[in-house]
Amino acid sequence: MQAHAPETSAERDTEPADFIGSLRDVVFRTRGKTFWSYLSPAWTTLTGFTVEESLGRNILDFVYPDDRPANSLRKQQLESGEISASRHTKRLLRRDGSFVWIEVDLRVLYDGDGAFLGSVGTIRDISDRIALENAIRHERERAAVTLMALSDGVLTLDPQRRIEFLNHAAADLLGLKLIDYALHRPIETVLALESGDIRSVVDEARAQQQMHTLDGRCRLHATEADWSDVDLTVIPLSEADEGCIIVLRDVREQRALQARLHHQARHDALTQALNRVGMLDELGRTHAGFLRTGATFSNILLDLDHFKRVNDQHGHAAGDEALRLVARAIQGALRADDHLARWGGEEFLCLLPHTSLEQAIAIAERIRAEVQALELKQGRQPIPLTISAGVSAASPDRGDTLEQMLQRADFSLYEAKQAGRNCVWHERMTGEGVLDLASQAQEALRADRLDLMYQPIISLTTGAQVGQEGFARMRMPDGTPLKAARFMPALQQMHRAHWVDEKVIPLVLEDCLQGRLQGDCFINLSADLLRRPTLMHALLDDFLQRTAHSPQDQLLGRIVLELDFRAQQLDLDAACTALQPWLAAGARLALKQSGPDLPTLAHWTELPIRFLKIHAAHLKRAATAPKAHLILSSIVRLAKQLGCLTVADQVDQIDQPDLVDVARELGLDWLQGDHADQPPP
Ligand code: GH3
Ligand code: MG
Ligand code: MG
Repeated sequence: MQAHAPETSAERDTEPADFIGSLRDVVFRTRGKTFWSYLSPAWTTLTGFTVEESLGRNILDFVYPDDRPANSLRKQQLESGEISASRHTKRLLRRDGSFVWIEVDLRVLYDGDGAFLGSVGTIRDISDRIALENAIRHERERAAVTLMALSDGVLTLDPQRRIEFLNHAAADLLGLKLIDYALHRPIETVLALESGDIRSVVDEARAQQQMHTLDGRCRLHATEADWSDVDLTVIPLSEADEGCIIVLRDVREQRALQARLHHQARHDALTQALNRVGMLDELGRTHAGFLRTGATFSNILLDLDHFKRVNDQHGHAAGDEALRLVARAIQGALRADDHLARWGGEEFLCLLPHTSLEQAIAIAERIRAEVQALELKQGRQPIPLTISAGVSAASPDRGDTLEQMLQRADFSLYEAKQAGRNCVWHERMTGEGVLDLASQAQEALRADRLDLMYQPIISLTTGAQVGQEGFARMRMPDGTPLKAARFMPALQQMHRAHWVDEKVIPLVLEDCLQGRLQGDCFINLSADLLRRPTLMHALLDDFLQRTAHSPQDQLLGRIVLELDFRAQQLDLDAACTALQPWLAAGARLALKQSGPDLPTLAHWTELPIRFLKIHAAHLKRAATAPKAHLILSSIVRLAKQLGCLTVADQVDQIDQPDLVDVARELGLDWLQGDHADQPPP
């Protein structure tokens, strides 16, 4: 565009004063060295002084005292020609005594000979800008102080991942003595993560423009210092900036607390051994490894002998001390990889990974000896301590479940107690078949794989059915049935036969109640159940409660409770207590004999026997041996004289017609055969 010269007076500029008056900036001129010679009207707005009273006055009078030295220096430079222009900030005094920040932009005026005439320029009010700058500076200082004082560690990084700022907490977490050491260094040369690389964490957060948090441990790079537990957060700054902030939150205390709580949840407070929860965890892990790789392991279940006596004779505190001492002794006999738990009140369980049965037995024996050698004293009186142990090992052939293994250890412990205590018993001593059967039966009970069957009882005179006996039958996991005669002896040997009874008894009572049975209903009671009067009474109470509105006398009058009188098993006193309420309610009693013994005088006198069952084996003997025949016929006669009905037991009508004849000939009343098991009607 071409500039063109003004043509008319209308196009010419108006007097400068016309538009200068409307400017917000002050336009000024000075004459000589120090006097205002022109000031535009904005001067009054800026300072409160009128133009008239200011013109001709010394400039310095209007400069804030603190800024006067700088002003004088600048004036000298301008006058001497050292500088010919200046742009500077200073404060002007206002009429009301306050001051205002201004920016002066001036140029020197010279006469034709180059001598200093004065200056011309503008004054701008910059108090808003100064206030803003002050505020920003103040904010910055405050932020820096705040960041410094934060208990979280804070580091800021520039785009090259160099440290720009680092506060005391960060230095502390990194074990850094001097903050300055870290400044301007790349982060990876200062901060090391226990797992991972800080560089990639930072880069990833920046690439994704997303906050990244990880919980881990950090320390000063290239040192042997302890790792600090931290939550580390990387906050990327805006893409334009590309720096980032790293916040390190000190979680040393939390982690320590968590670790303590975790420990408490898994350990027993008295002995510091694992508790059940902790041990089940370890057992689960070890058993899973066994299933996966076949790595065998063993368990030792230990129970203090006659511990009730320790408490009774020496007090509970001595008992507690004994438990602590024993736990320490057991732990001392174990290896680093083994685990010890307080499994119950005074029962301990050891888990021995990668350990055969033989090795476990040796360790159990060592524990037993160590406990026996312990010296616990109450005053001057030593308190003898001994422990019994049951050992079991995982067997790949059997595809052992954890429950089966623990059950075998439990059974073995029971055997150790029976064997006189202070000894180690293991599954091979009992016979694996027995332990397997017992634990399989337990599992069948748990999984509801126990069925009820009935064997009919007929009258030998009329041939009519007069009653039946209920039996348990176990279904193996593959569905194969297993007769009670197969698995009950195993449970009896483990003294756990009552597990089956307490399941069978309510079922038979229910069938009887529902009118599904004919005549008398025989139910087996194990010696284990008869040793537990409370359980026996509870079974009756349950039944009475359920049948509160039925004629119970009639019903219980049809119930015949059948005892096995093998002398060594039946505790007569306990049995009488257990049976008493049942008999009072109308139930009757049968004695059966499944082994070689015959009932003793005590059986006849102590128990109100109404039925005597004679096993097929005795009939067989009577058929060939005259002496046996004589004894048996005397017993039958005696039984009848005592008001008993006699039953030939386990005689197969079809396969053993000769035995049926012997039974008739001996005058037996009824006959029960094992050929005709039937499910409930
Ligand atoms: P056995 O040889 O047959 O095991 O006899 P025992 O006396 O040890 O019999 P039992 O197992 O029935 O008794 C366990 C006793 O242990 C009963 C209980 O008073 C005691 N006990 C259980 N927990 C603690 C405990 O924390 N402190 C103390 N002092 N005694 C305990
Ligand atoms: Mg005990
Ligand atoms: Mg116990």
